[in-house]
Formats: sequence, C-alpha cells, structure tokens
Amino acid sequence: MRKVCAKLVPKTQGKVKDSAIRPIPHSDEIPIPTFHELPDISDNEHCPSDRSSDANETNSDYEGTSSVPQRFNQNELNDLTRDLNLSKKAAEVLASRLNDKNLLEQGTKITFYRTREKDLLPFFSQEDNLVFCHEIRGLMKEMGLSEYIPDDWRLFIDSSKRSLKCVLLHNGNKYGSIPLAHSTKLKEEYNTIALVLQKIKYHEHQWLICVDLKMVNFLLGQQSGYTKYPCLLCLWDSRDKTHHWVRKDWPLRENMDVGEKNVINDALVEREKIILPPLHIKLGLMKQFVKALDKDGPCFEYIGVKMPQLSTEKLKAGIFDGPQIRQLIKDPAFINSMNEVEREAWTSFVAVVENFLGKHKAENYVEIVNKMLNSFKSLGCNMSIKVHYLDSHLDRFPENLGDMSEEQGERFHQDIKIMEDRYQGRWDIHMMADYCWSLKRDCLKKHSRMSRKRSFRSVE
Ligand SMILES: [Zn+2]
Repeated sequence: MRKVCAKLVPKTQGKVKDSAIRPIPHSDEIPIPTFHELPDISDNEHCPSDRSSDANETNSDYEGTSSVPQRFNQNELNDLTRDLNLSKKAAEVLASRLNDKNLLEQGTKITFYRTREKDLLPFFSQEDNLVFCHEIRGLMKEMGLSEYIPDDWRLFIDSSKRSLKCVLLHNGNKYGSIPLAHSTKLKEEYNTIALVLQKIKYHEHQWLICVDLKMVNFLLGQQSGYTKYPCLLCLWDSRDKTHHWVRKDWPLRENMDVGEKNVINDALVEREKIILPPLHIKLGLMKQFVKALDKDGPCFEYIGVKMPQLSTEKLKAGIFDGPQIRQLIKDPAFINSMNEVEREAWTSFVAVVENFLGKHKAENYVEIVNKMLNSFKSLGCNMSIKVHYLDSHLDRFPENLGDMSEEQGERFHQDIKIMEDRYQGRWDIHMMADYCWSLKRDCLKKHSRMSRKRSFRSVE
C-alpha cells in the first residue's frame, strides 16, 4: 500500500506543477486596457496542436517552444506582471521566485517594482485636493505612443457627489484610457470644473468632450435642473408640452449670452466640442419608456420581479444602468409581458440601441430613430431633453458615433476599481503614474497568449 502511494505522489505533484505554470486567464474576467493593440489569440502562429492533433485538452494548453529555458529580462518580466495585473508587491514576489530558480537574466532587478512608476511620476502633480497630469504630450510619449494627435482623443468627465474624474479615451477605442485628473474633495460645480480644465490645460488640446448632460451644463455655463431652455443647440421649450412631438424645428441658440435663456456663466469650452453622449441618451430613452408603462400592467410588474435589486423608487422613475438595460434586451420573456403598443416601443428602442447608439451604425438609422420616436409618442412617453436631441438634432451626432461609445468609459471604471482597491482609495500621483505604467508595454514581441490588453505601440 505504501509503495503505491509513493508512486502516486510524484505523479500528482507533477500534474499540479504543470497546471501552475500555465498562463492564468486572469484578464478574461477583468480586462485591463493598456497601450498596445494586441494580436488576437486565434492568430497564434505557434500553436502546438498543429503538431499533435490528438492532444487532449490538458496537453493543448501547454505551449512549449524550446527545450532550452529562456530567462526573463527586465522588459519581459515587466510585461508579464502587467499581463497578470500584479501589484508592486506581487510583482516583486514573482521576480524573487523566478530568481530563486535562476530564471532571470543578469541585471534584472527584483526591487525595480517598488518604484516602477518613477519614470511617469514627473508628469503628475498634486495641488489643492486635485491630482492631475500637467504634461499630457510628455506622458503619452513616455508611455510609448509614437504620435499624439489631440483629435484622436476625447475627454470623459465623470462626476458624482463623491468624486470627480477626468479620463482621456481613444476615439476608436484602440488604446487604453488615461486618467488625467482626480479628486475626492472638490465639489461638483462650475468653478471646480473650470479649475480642472485649467490644470489639465484643456485649451492646448481642445479634445472632443463626451459627458452626461449635467456636466454639459457646467461646461457651457447653463443653469442646471429642469429649466425652460435646456438644449445647447436650440431654444426648445421644455414646458411647451402642446408642441412636443409636433414641432421639430425650434429657433437656433445663436450664442450663449450670460443672463439669457438659462445661461448663467461663461462657457468653459466651445459648443462644437460637445458630443451628445450615446449612453446617456440610451438611459434617457429607457427612462421615458418605463415611466410611460401602466404601473399595474404585466410589463411593469415583470421588470419588478426580474430585477428585485431595483428599488421601487428607481423602477417608477425609470432609472436603469447600462447592464440592466442589456439584461432586459436579452430576455425573451420580457417581450411576452407587453401589449402591442409597448412591444412596438420596446422593439424600436432596441433597434435604436443596436443600430445607432452602439458600436454599429446602420445606413438607415434615420428611419430607425424616427420609427422609435413615433412608437414612443403612441405609448404616451414624455418628450425629454434626451428624446429631443434625437428628434431635432440627429444630424449633430458624430458620424463615427460607435467610436465614441461610452463602453470604454464603463470599462475604465472597472479597471480603475482594481487600482483604487490596491491603493486603498488613496488617489495620489503614485497611483496615477502606476496605473499608466500598467498600460505600457516594453517588449514588442508577439506572445502566443496574452491578456486582452490595449496599449500604445502596435505589437509586431
Ligand atoms: Zn434643441
């Protein structure tokens, strides 16, 4: 009996060891966008299964290329720690373990990770409760971007009562997003936004701006809340309900004069730079749809049952987030709970989400949007400012709306969350620089397996 066990033990250990060296698909669950466009895993040139077609699943996960071990140099180890999304401390542990096995090239420093962000630190400052990047051109260069063109980027400002974040998103979403400014102390108000724009030197770069409509009000000096003239483009009267759904053309807003038509401050940016935000338009449409539903009807009831986590107040007010809307769109039973008018409105809303507000823009998008507007009208929806933008200013949505989708902004939230946890919510220049370090890539070698990161330079 003992003999059998002795034979079994090493075998088992061997198996454990094999699985331990396989790449961990960590980033499949938590994708971290970085600064390189990465090759798709499917175009892997060195797939071992070409050689052994009868390989079982376990074996096909092993990708050996040479029997001679190759040691890691610093750049390779840096990229590995990025792919595995390791903290400074974890990276140091990994380096130390590899060193114990003599797997590091001479000159590779284990302690490098303690201060790995140091080359990026000089681009960040901290003043008056605000951490920000004061030299974006230099930062981009240091991160490995060969050419920085401001028009390729858009500014995303996310604010709440708790924090204010500015992020640069790449138009086309090819590169990772860069945190530009952050504060947990500054209040969300006109003067604060003005200060932040000044610190990040907005006027030198003049990026397009994609923000929710509350932030648009700050940026253009418009009065917040439910005002009579909330539109940034025309003098649509939000209170003139008799003309809603009937009149499309309203007098244009020629200028933004302080003291007139709900303009209370000087505009901080040019109006032309504002992109109407697709995600917020989508949330706005959902809100009007839900608010128009019969509160005792099966469709409204169905949402309540399907989403018990949603409070009654939010449900009644039609306040949903992106993932919740996606959940309902995917649910075939939802549509069965609807009467004919509701079904018309819902399916046409889904068509707008899929063919206009998302990544894909259909050629006949005007028709699709108009169909939705008509079915919303039939359902008895109110005309809100967001609905008005579709009704009267469809031509003001950028041609490449899909490239401006806010999905990347949503993803940035997820990514930065890991960093926030790691730094225990302590936003400082080290955290901002370390996040940017994690987006860099030091080797331009194509790996057979990589995390789905996006970063700066293209991998050969
Ligand atoms: Zn308007």
